[in-house]
Amino acid sequence: MLIYLGDIYHTSGIPSTPTPTNIGYIASYCKEKFGDKVNIKLFKNPHKLIEQIEKTPPDVLGLSNYMWNENLNKFVCELAKKKNRNLITVTGGPNLRSDKKSIKNFLSKNKEYDFCILYAAEIPFSNLIEKCFNFELDKDKLKNCKIEGCFSLDNKSELIGDIYLSNEKNLDYIPSPFLNGFMDEFLSEGYYPLFETNRGCPFSCTFCVWGISALHKIKTFSIERVFKEFDYVAEKTKKSKFWFLADANFGILPRDVDIAKKIREIYENKFSFDQINIYWTKNITDRTYVIAKTFGKLCQAYTALQSLDPLVLKLIKRSNISVEKLNHFKNEVADYTNGTYTDILLGQPGETKESHINSVFGAMKLGFDQIGGGEVRLLPGSEMDENISRINYKLMTKFRMGEGAIGIYKGKPVFELEEVVRQTKWITENEMTDLRSIRALIYVSTTLGELNYLNMVLVNENINIFKVVENILQNRDKNTQFSKMLDQLEMLAKDEWFNTREEATKFYYNELKNRTPEEVSPVKLNMWVLVKLLRSNDVYNQFLNEFIKSVIQTNNKIDKEILNDLVLLSKSRNFLRSCLNGIFDFKKEIPLSNKTLEKLREIKLIKDHFNFNSIHLVMDQRIGKDIISTLPDLNNVNDLQFSQYIQRFGINLQMKIQTSSSAIPLQNKANNIPDFV
Ligand code: SF4
Repeated sequence: MLIYLGDIYHTSGIPSTPTPTNIGYIASYCKEKFGDKVNIKLFKNPHKLIEQIEKTPPDVLGLSNYMWNENLNKFVCELAKKKNRNLITVTGGPNLRSDKKSIKNFLSKNKEYDFCILYAAEIPFSNLIEKCFNFELDKDKLKNCKIEGCFSLDNKSELIGDIYLSNEKNLDYIPSPFLNGFMDEFLSEGYYPLFETNRGCPFSCTFCVWGISALHKIKTFSIERVFKEFDYVAEKTKKSKFWFLADANFGILPRDVDIAKKIREIYENKFSFDQINIYWTKNITDRTYVIAKTFGKLCQAYTALQSLDPLVLKLIKRSNISVEKLNHFKNEVADYTNGTYTDILLGQPGETKESHINSVFGAMKLGFDQIGGGEVRLLPGSEMDENISRINYKLMTKFRMGEGAIGIYKGKPVFELEEVVRQTKWITENEMTDLRSIRALIYVSTTLGELNYLNMVLVNENINIFKVVENILQNRDKNTQFSKMLDQLEMLAKDEWFNTREEATKFYYNELKNRTPEEVSPVKLNMWVLVKLLRSNDVYNQFLNEFIKSVIQTNNKIDKEILNDLVLLSKSRNFLRSCLNGIFDFKKEIPLSNKTLEKLREIKLIKDHFNFNSIHLVMDQRIGKDIISTLPDLNNVNDLQFSQYIQRFGINLQMKIQTSSSAIPLQNKANNIPDFV
């Protein structure tokens, strides 16, 4: 039996992508059960999947369904069904409400799918394959019989099926898709390895699919097997930018300390990756600190605050996550890890415009270097998506295309829409629109680091960055290119929304008549601002002038010499911007006044004993070389491509402070991570 499994995505939509470990598990379990009776091929790239379907259509096609690929999946299914009208199609994944009425509705509306599976699909999918053998792929018989863990519509269009959840706490019954070679081709093509050491999450956040009770129990792969996977991947891949752990709460189990030590050991000996991406556990304990120190600069101290408002935290069911402990953790490990990051969402129940501003400013005051998070997207299957939440919280949603979530397949455009909260009982749509431009400027200046050091000092002086940015938007000099860019930003913030899916779909199809998909695709507005600033030195300098002017207008206590020093320091940090201007120095010396150095000491950017009158900015050698060797030609890249390029590096585009006294070589043994202060 020929089986294709796809975890596909629009290739222009995501700057870096993980191995399809999810479908790898399904394939591995199925292969072990049926051996040579099944021939299973896995796909990440939709073009390759389509090509293969046309060449040799499969008997069974299974596609993992997410917000970012649902229309692409449907397109591929329809095409495959034309090639093999007896084809059995299956969809699964988190993008589905779990009540039976919704599942029936989904299968009735999406006739291209014969079956759907919720949650862990390894056993249900193999149950289906077993029946496929028993019924010799007779679709009618299959759809009319109950298959454990699979849903279908029978010949009377009634729903058959149930959710299957294994009670097994040890997940080793699923063979490893790394150790059996299923992931080899993806590793060699440069996809970064996505590992899972455990599944499940004990928390109940209402905006998240993991928050539902069915997924609360934590199940584990054995540590021996996890270690073997790490060793295998380290041997197999020459170099990967990231290793990614998909665990919802890394550090929740005592053994996670040993896992962290093993990863660190592999890094020291093999130098197989530059960065570890993990989701830290929300219940901070002593071992979380040990893990953070073990990973060191390989990892960011990411703690997802989401809001600092008690009502919001209660309504999204995060009251049991201690903000104090998260913050204490961040403070304790900030010196060891590669920066501190948090998310603050907009559009959560209970959140007003004012409380959102307080949360973001509060996170800045707590000392987070980067603050991410956008408007809440409603994920089918999450509690927030349920009708009761929509009614109780008076959620009003709108639709837009995700950045790069579009492609041309067999000559036809296919794109994805996302449903986003635009108004709640607590915040109006106009207030959310007002916040959009403010948030974009704050994101660029803080999270992407353009004015990070300046903002850290301002926040320490209790100067509200929101007021500074709001003042720029209201009182800027209207005759500059920067001002025109802000006019356009405000227009885009209003115009990117559609009331219904149908309205959005019609609009984008119309646009596609005269424009390419890359021209039609929106660019995330935060990134769009940085794209515009980096494209033009004039616009960039006007932005800085407006920022300085606004700080002075909104605060009379700020010392102008310090302000100018900090602007100079901030403006010197973006390595990409320097390279675009023909300056490729990996190290820069920035002279600063004693007053400014004192301010940097206060916010602990330099240590108390630092006693030089200049600062050295340094660029990580590997990242810097990567930027130079891939430097885009601004005349030949569009905004979408440039945005994707910037997202590949993110905050790592920014040079960091190195004290002259530390004199740490930029490349030492297998560890070239400079020890920044
Ligand atoms: S947001 Fe994180 S902590 Fe909350 S339910 Fe989802 S995975 Fe668990």
